[in-house]
Amino acid sequence: MSLERRVAIVTGGNRGIGKGIALGLAREGAHVAVNYRRNEEEAQQTVAEIEALGVKVKAYQAPVDDCDAILGMVAQVAEDFGQIDILVNNAGIASRGNSVADTDPAEFERVVRTHCFGTFYATHAVIPHLRERERGDIIMISSAATRNFMPNGAPYNVGKAGIEAIAYGVAKEELRNNIYVNVVAPGVVETDMGRRLVRATQGVENIRDIDATSPFGHVCQPEDVANVVCYLVSDKNSYVTGERVYVDGLAAAMR
Ligand code: NDP
Repeated sequence: MSLERRVAIVTGGNRGIGKGIALGLAREGAHVAVNYRRNEEEAQQTVAEIEALGVKVKAYQAPVDDCDAILGMVAQVAEDFGQIDILVNNAGIASRGNSVADTDPAEFERVVRTHCFGTFYATHAVIPHLRERERGDIIMISSAATRNFMPNGAPYNVGKAGIEAIAYGVAKEELRNNIYVNVVAPGVVETDMGRRLVRATQGVENIRDIDATSPFGHVCQPEDVANVVCYLVSDKNSYVTGERVYVDGLAAAMR
């Protein structure tokens, strides 16, 4: 499953699921561009951990919802690394858990912009580079929220439905260019976002307290998500594109 000689961009790669994916890709031999929004310290920490794995790595500050910043970042990555083979659209923010009636329209715009516009900008910017390669890969990090679109999550639900819509269209558009496009959709994962979610929805302070009631006896870890991403972008995946893989141990389906 080697990813040697491939170059990956991971948006929101400095912490949480994105960091897990960036480390996972690097362990398989990929060089990694770590995108982040503002948390420079975590970006440098992640860069140091990836460097220790012996691959090339660099951090790039650029908000995904700023088109010019993303175009500039992608051009810079291509210059720094000489090529781009893999894009993981991971950067994301949660919504506040209110009904549509109680949601501030500005929140809706912010969440949808980050997920949908951010994913569109990065995908749009990277495709010309992927087309130059023998194979290209794009992964969208969606959410188990798209299994059943629960109430009190309209901005997030729309954001994730939107990025999936982009994925399924691009998969068809770029098939002839050997670009694989797949969606990876986790349930609750132990990250800052996941911890806030279980605190708000279940009143649980320590997310590991729900290990016993979680599928397979543990809360999903960033590595669980990274393993799926690494497989999908590797040459072990030769015939799967335009698909969605839920990484939630069926939790959302069993509710
Ligand atoms: P975290 O809140 O732990 O991390 C969010 C990451 O996204 C950070 O790296 C942050 O960068 C980055 N980010 C946010 N906004 C932007 C932006 N405008 N431009 C660039 N980067 C940005 O979240 P998770 O790691 O948990 O989530 C990662 C992805 O996984 C998200 O898309 C989320 O929706 C999805 N997901 C998470 C689940 C969970 O339970 N944790 C479940 C299902 C899906 P910075 O540090 O600089 O702010």
